[in-house]
Amino acid sequence: MTLAAIERVETLRVRWQEGDPPGRRSAIVRISAGGHVGYGEASPMLGGEHSLGIVDRDLAPELIGRDVHDTGILYDRLLHKCIKLGPEGAATGALAAVDLALWDLRGKLLGLPVYKLLGGAWRTEIPFYSSIGNNFGRSVDETLRVVEARLKDEKPAAIKIRLDGDRTTQDFDIAGDMAKARAVRKLVGDGFPLGFDANNLYSAGGAIRMGRVLEDLDYLWFEEPVQHYDIHGMGEVARKLDITVSAGEQSYTIQAVLDLIRAGVRMLQPDIVKMGGITGLMKCAALCQAHGVELVPHQTQPTLAHMANLHVLSTIMHLTKPAEYADPTGRMDIAFETPLRPRNGHFALRDAPGLGLEVKAAELERRLI
Ligand code: CA
Repeated sequence: MTLAAIERVETLRVRWQEGDPPGRRSAIVRISAGGHVGYGEASPMLGGEHSLGIVDRDLAPELIGRDVHDTGILYDRLLHKCIKLGPEGAATGALAAVDLALWDLRGKLLGLPVYKLLGGAWRTEIPFYSSIGNNFGRSVDETLRVVEARLKDEKPAAIKIRLDGDRTTQDFDIAGDMAKARAVRKLVGDGFPLGFDANNLYSAGGAIRMGRVLEDLDYLWFEEPVQHYDIHGMGEVARKLDITVSAGEQSYTIQAVLDLIRAGVRMLQPDIVKMGGITGLMKCAALCQAHGVELVPHQTQPTLAHMANLHVLSTIMHLTKPAEYADPTGRMDIAFETPLRPRNGHFALRDAPGLGLEVKAAELERRLI
């Protein structure tokens, strides 16, 4: 039985401002059926070009005529069609973009918000944490100035300091990193929830030294202490430290997420635009619930993916940490009727059909590459 046959699949490569590097662009997929359109996006790593190429060449022909509502079947059919293209990275990003567009479209066809289709929301107001990057190259004072501004502007429920250094260096300046962690704790005061993201910059030994300091400073979590592909090392650090060690933003399948859980990582951070969209992240949620580990998704895109992430988070019973909020610039707001903005430390889900974001198609078309 086909309820709504997919009629059209389009890929949109969007440059928001002149001179945007590839990582600041958007890789959008638009799917049409029954007089409605749904929007999704892939991770914009390297512009998302590779994912959109896979959508155009390999996924779109498979999708035409299929039922919009068969999201589970389509996810696995397309994943296994592309299994030798990865399956990690560009291929799962392509699947994510398609999946998000299908869920948005399903909601619009049925007149329901996505969270209702997922089984209902435990909460429709989701607290967020300010995710503050690029601190590797900053002095202690510069780091403090940026943290102070975000704290004042956004009033977040928590703050995460990211190093974002060059992954070809290791244990580059642990003493300097400790000084930044100490200064930020002093700035925000005792009891304010803090996370520290190493972005894979430490050896296992260096990570354990750093982790002990973060424990003393009462940080809540220590993110990606070692290289993401060193599953054993990640697990070793997680098991040796008391602080919660998190990882998983560079895991692209449920099996890769399970590998981290088995290694001993107790907080998982898969990203909705990297590892299979809403369908993929809901599977991760079940996996994490079954193993008693925290699911705190990685999420850097400020519009479609952010909203999709919030829908999934609303359905999680044990939501232990706020949602990531990485890009407060509003640089993409022009393409949405009612852009998503934080209020009182929260983002609110909407009851509008689908993801709840109305796209101004003409503004997107104007910015196509
Ligand atoms: Ca991270």
